[in-house]
Order: sequence, then C-alpha cells, then structure tokens
Amino acid sequence: MEKAVAPYAPLRDPGEMPSTVFTAGAGEPLNGTRLTGEVKADIVVVGGGIAGVSAALHAAESGSRVVVLEANSIGWGASGRNAGHLAPASKMSWEEAERLYGPVVGERFNQAAESGPELVFRLAEKYGIDAEAQRTGMLIAAHSEAAARALETRANELQRLGKPVQFLDRKAASQVVGSEFYLGAFHDSRGGSINPLAYVRGLARAAVAAGAEVHENSRAVSIAKRGLNWEVRTSSGCVVGAHVLICTNAYTDELWPGLKQSIIPARSYHVGTQPLPKDLQTQILPRREVMTDSRRLLLGIRVCRNGQLHFNGYGPALGPDTGLDVASTLRRVEEIFPQLKPLQIQYQWHGWMAMSRVGTWEVHELAPGVTAALGCNGRGVAMATFIGRDIADFALGKPRNELVVPLTALKRIPLHFMHALPVRALVSWRQWKDRLEMQRLRGVPARD
Ligand SMILES: Cc1cc2nc3c(=O)[nH]c(=O)nc-3n(C[C@H](O)[C@H](O)[C@H](O)COP(=O)(O)OP(=O)(O)OC[C@H]3O[C@@H](n4cnc5c(N)ncnc54)[C@H](O)[C@@H]3O)c2cc1C
Repeated sequence: MEKAVAPYAPLRDPGEMPSTVFTAGAGEPLNGTRLTGEVKADIVVVGGGIAGVSAALHAAESGSRVVVLEANSIGWGASGRNAGHLAPASKMSWEEAERLYGPVVGERFNQAAESGPELVFRLAEKYGIDAEAQRTGMLIAAHSEAAARALETRANELQRLGKPVQFLDRKAASQVVGSEFYLGAFHDSRGGSINPLAYVRGLARAAVAAGAEVHENSRAVSIAKRGLNWEVRTSSGCVVGAHVLICTNAYTDELWPGLKQSIIPARSYHVGTQPLPKDLQTQILPRREVMTDSRRLLLGIRVCRNGQLHFNGYGPALGPDTGLDVASTLRRVEEIFPQLKPLQIQYQWHGWMAMSRVGTWEVHELAPGVTAALGCNGRGVAMATFIGRDIADFALGKPRNELVVPLTALKRIPLHFMHALPVRALVSWRQWKDRLEMQRLRGVPARD
C-alpha cells in the first residue's frame, strides 16, 4: 500500500525533462536507442548523468568497450537540471576533508575539488561542447557582520596559501553583486558557470564519438554474476561486462541491495525569470559570477547567457511535489534586488540531490567489479566529472589507494524509512533561523 508521504519521490518524477533556462541552449537530445538483445562490454555504466557519461568518456578513450544504460534520457537526473554553478570546492571545508580522510587523501580530495571547474572548462574546450562555459568566478556574499568577518579570515588564510581568492568589502561587494544587501563578499576566481544540460549531452556525445554505446529508456533492473562477468539486465536486453559502474545518485532505485538506503534524496526547486531589461542585466552580477550567500538555507543566483535571472527557491524537500512556494521564493530574491520587483517567472522546475552520511560523495566497491559513486550533497557538476573519471580508471586498474574519494563500505542510513522527518525538521529550522536572524539584523519582515 502507498504511504501517505512518499518516502522516495525521485522515481515518481515524469520521464520528460522539464523546460528550464538551459533547455534552449542545450542543443538536441541524444535520442539514444533502447537496449535490445545481448551486448558485450568491458564496462557497463548505469546512469546517464555527468558521473556516468564522464566515466564512459574516459573509459572509451582508454580503448574500452563501454555501454551506458540510462533509464530516461541523458541528463534527465540532476545533471541536466542543476544550476550549473562551478564551485572550486566540495561541500566540506579543507579541514573537514582532512579530518575525514587523513592528510594525504584529504589533500588529494581537496586539490581535485579545487581544480574541478578547470577540468570542466578543459573538457568543454577539448570536445567542442558549447555549454556556455564562463570562467567568471564565484561569490559568497555575507549577510551579517559575523559572516563578513569569517569570510575575510577565510580569504586571508587562502591567500597565504597562494589561492586566487579575495575578500570584497561592502562597497566592492555591492558593485559586483548589484545590491546593497550584503556586507562583504568572498570571491574565488577559479569558479564559473556552465549550461549543465548542454554539458552532460556534450560529454555523452564525446563518449559516443570515442566508441561508447549509449542507450536511453533502458533502466537496469538487475545485476547478476555470469561466469567471470556481470550481467546487467533491462526489460528488453542485457549487457555482459567485466565491470559495472553505478552512477545513479539521488535517483538510485532497488538495483543493488542497500544502495538506495545509503543516501537521502532531497528536492531542490529552481526558477528562471524572463530576460531582465538590458540596464538591469548590466547592474545585476555584471561580471557574471555565480553567487551564493552565507545564510543557512542555500540561495544560489546567477544571470544566464540570455539575461534571465536564475535562482533556487522554497518548496517541499521531500514527498509529493506540491510545487514551488512562489511568494516566499520571490520575496527572498526581491529583498536582495529590490530594483527587480516584480520578478516575472518564466520557468520553474525541480531536481533531486543525494545527501550522504559523510556530507560528500561516497564511492563503494559493492563487489569485485561493481563500483558505485553517489551522495553529491548538492555539489556535483565538477565533482561528478572527476569522480566519474576516477571510477572508470579504477575499473581499468588504478590502484585503490589512489582514488580521489576513497572506497568505503556501503552503509545503510539507520531508520532510513523515517528520513523525511529529520530532513523536514532541518530545512524548517534553517528557514526559521535565517528569518529570525534577518529580522534581528535588518528588520527584514519575517514572512517566509
Ligand atoms: C536542482 C539541483 C541544482 C544543483 N545545482 C548544482 C550546482 O549549481 N553546482 C553543482 O556542482 N552541483 C549542483 N547540483 C548537484 C549536481 O547536479 C549533481 O551532483 C550531479 O548532477 C550528479 O550527477 P550524477 O551523474 O551522479 O547523477 P544524476 O545526474 O542524478 O543522474 C543519475 C541518472 O541515473 C539514472 N538512473 C537511475 N536508476 C537507473 C537505473 N536503474 N538504470 C539506468 N539509469 C538509472 C537516472 O535516470 C538519472 O538520469 C544540483 C542538483 C540539483 C538537483
């Protein structure tokens, strides 16, 4: 019997891609065929998001026979509907990563995260992917004096390590953001932006050009041992290969026991406005950095190539899709940019990210020859690119102790079936704390 609150809604999402600010610039879909009959491969990739197609591209370029199975269409998951912010960092601080992995692996992980955007830019250049890639940098704007001080300290520390970052005081921040709302900003010139759907389709096309087979509408329904190989079945065919790479992130189904229970999917709503008037396009984020701010509930903002403002909004992180909370979402952005009032929404959509136990991606060797990478925690355009490459290299013989994200045992999240409760509580708590804090700091009305 269906539960009142769906515990896992990603699989109930429509098979059609939503229209987003990125659709028009993303070119044609791949229109890959459905898998039929039996096919042999060296590497079978399950999931056609950035992680899967990056793995496929890198393996195919090394001369392997690669088959990608995507349940819907390439980029249908988070990869084709994310915000396209390229952050030169994981969701953990440098110190948190070193605590989690130790100094050697921690440093490797941090270096990979920092150079992730550059990898994306290079791949887009190398394969001629017109993905609107912009090396424009990334901003974190400070909503309070305390946040400004913390960001300034952070910028100073990183500058001492030779990183291309700087702290912008209130005046400089207001110029680069196009708003008087913030009290300073942290700028990292290694970040930038991309059209994510164009990017994932471009990587998939590059994989096909390198010899990979990409099948769409081909959900893997079972993985079983066949002799020395693995047999991955869909409803209309099967692939037999030595290695299976599972890259299904928040959309993970029951394919491998326990994998779905190792992450918690969380929905994120996004909004694209109609193109801003020309004078406002030059006022808001005039240098086209991607921006977040220092509040608890994530706010990501960018101006896209055609002058549309894109930001994420409020809406239920779990359970049925009851839609974007339009009023609260617009109010939050109009507080920052009162000159944009009233904002006119042209597109709204949502996608799912996977939250993991450790706060970042996890890579599991589920059995000899079967590897999974998932748990992006909301950061994965650049990270899925290098993690996909890494697990492909692992399948091709890279020593396990050289992986960027070390292999860990698959662990189910305790009481996973109850995950809606803590997630809802956390989101509500963050929203409430942000609201109270803004009220205290600026007298911003508490109506969210
Ligand atoms: C709304 C949103 C905004 C985001 N914004 C950013 C951002 O600005 N910057 C950033 O760095 N990260 C962002 N992220 C995170 C980023 O999008 C993800 O980390 C990344 O796309 C994950 O890629 P993936 O390939 O692992 O998974 P996905 O892209 O989710 O792909 C998984 C695929 O697996 C397929 N699949 C599932 N089960 C099966 C099966 N049994 N057989 C075959 N196929 C299957 C699904 O159909 C899906 O296409 C955002 C995420 C969301 C949801």
